[in-house]
Amino acid sequence: MRRRAEVAVVGAGAAGLVAARELLREGHTVSVFEKSGRVGGTWAYSPRADADPLGSDPGAPGAVHSSLYASLRTNLPRELMGFSGFPLAGRAFAGDPRTFPGHREVLAYLDAFAADSGVAPHVRLRAQVLRVRPLCPGRGQGEKWAVAWRGEDGDVAEEAFDAVVVCNGHCSVPLVPKIRGINKWRGKQMHSHNYRTPEPFQDQSVVVVGLGASGIDIAREISHVAKEVHISARYSEGRLGKIELYHNAWMHSEIECIQDDGQVRFAEGSSVAADTILYCTGYRYHFPFLDLDGFTVDDNRVGPLYKHVFPPKHAPNLCFVGLPYKSIIFQALELESKWVAAVLSGRAELPVEEDMTADVEEEYQRMEDAGKPKRHTHTLWPRWVEYLNWVADQVGEAHLEPRKCEMYEKALKCVWSLDEGYRDRWEEESIGSG
Ligand code: FAD
Repeated sequence: MRRRAEVAVVGAGAAGLVAARELLREGHTVSVFEKSGRVGGTWAYSPRADADPLGSDPGAPGAVHSSLYASLRTNLPRELMGFSGFPLAGRAFAGDPRTFPGHREVLAYLDAFAADSGVAPHVRLRAQVLRVRPLCPGRGQGEKWAVAWRGEDGDVAEEAFDAVVVCNGHCSVPLVPKIRGINKWRGKQMHSHNYRTPEPFQDQSVVVVGLGASGIDIAREISHVAKEVHISARYSEGRLGKIELYHNAWMHSEIECIQDDGQVRFAEGSSVAADTILYCTGYRYHFPFLDLDGFTVDDNRVGPLYKHVFPPKHAPNLCFVGLPYKSIIFQALELESKWVAAVLSGRAELPVEEDMTADVEEEYQRMEDAGKPKRHTHTLWPRWVEYLNWVADQVGEAHLEPRKCEMYEKALKCVWSLDEGYRDRWEEESIGSG
């Protein structure tokens, strides 16, 4: 017989919404706790940024969750950004039918998804989860959980659930690298979490650290108003020097230090005087409401977690959806959610605790042998297809369509090309090819 669990979901971003849909489909009872006043998570753009441009204190009053900038368009085509049965492709939700739509379109899609899937009535808005703790500690299916949360009126309540699915997002708390000699830096510093528009960088010389999707977008946008843009990237070999595509931008290797004269020195030996260092260096996993023995975030490795989802000691009643990155994210969220829902009902089975722990340890060992740093634990690249297909197998879902895999790889190459026009050109090319 299928087990029907009472499940708390923390967060109503894309992960929390699809997790709730899959849990409801599987027959579970669901309460989604969302600390903000709406669903959509990171896609709810905020023109306001944190008071501290480095966003050093995620618990500060008024800390902003979303890391979007005003001009942001998706870096994946819309076909790769919808959930099954409710595609984002082929229609417009906020009047922006482009293949790579602006952020408002994705937010409108998520609003519509919450309504269409029947999840919306299960979301408690302005309900911040403060603490998640095991009740009458047991093991496996028997373990229950207490969720303490603060509502709009400021009152704190605690409720018991059979299971908790953590979907609190991981693109909100800035990861800022330590730079040797930063105490000699007299200019400004900011993390991309707090970047909104290019105007404040008018006529400045800006060092942009990091060459991920945001770093590339932001460096390009700033280059239209700034005097000079210097991109500092770890994997920049073969691309050092002036960037052909821009009239005022240069590629450098990692920052080596801040010199005594306050200039930024790069590992390849050049140095520049700059006004601002803008860190586009990614985010930290942060679970301020979780304090569990043996469960840690160490150098951005959340663990131990079996396949990024289940902590062996507390599986299956505590689990995480949405930790891995560098894949077709919406598809990963949906597959992980289906897995969680099926395991909680008993339709899918997990290995015993010892075997899950052994699997995690083997994975850590594989990383170490390959010289992969801990902080890359949840990067799915380059084995992202293997992971998604493995999760699909757990719940009897079809493997990824090769066409979608190719589309994803093509989108990544486009991002890394640094070329401004790839989004619109993609559209023209697909029209051209019929
Ligand atoms: P979030 O969207 O962050 O949602 C988490 C939710 O949890 C939030 O609503 C938050 O308020 C809530 N919450 C947190 N803590 C608590 C608490 N204690 N109590 C209650 N509620 C809580 N992905 C793509 O697929 N394509 C893209 O083009 C793309 N571009 C991106 C660009 C940027 C700049 C960023 C930052 C991310 C981008 N992403 C993109 C990744 C994006 O993060 C995912 O697509 C997805 O939205 C993540 O959803 P999530 O639900 O895991 O997290």
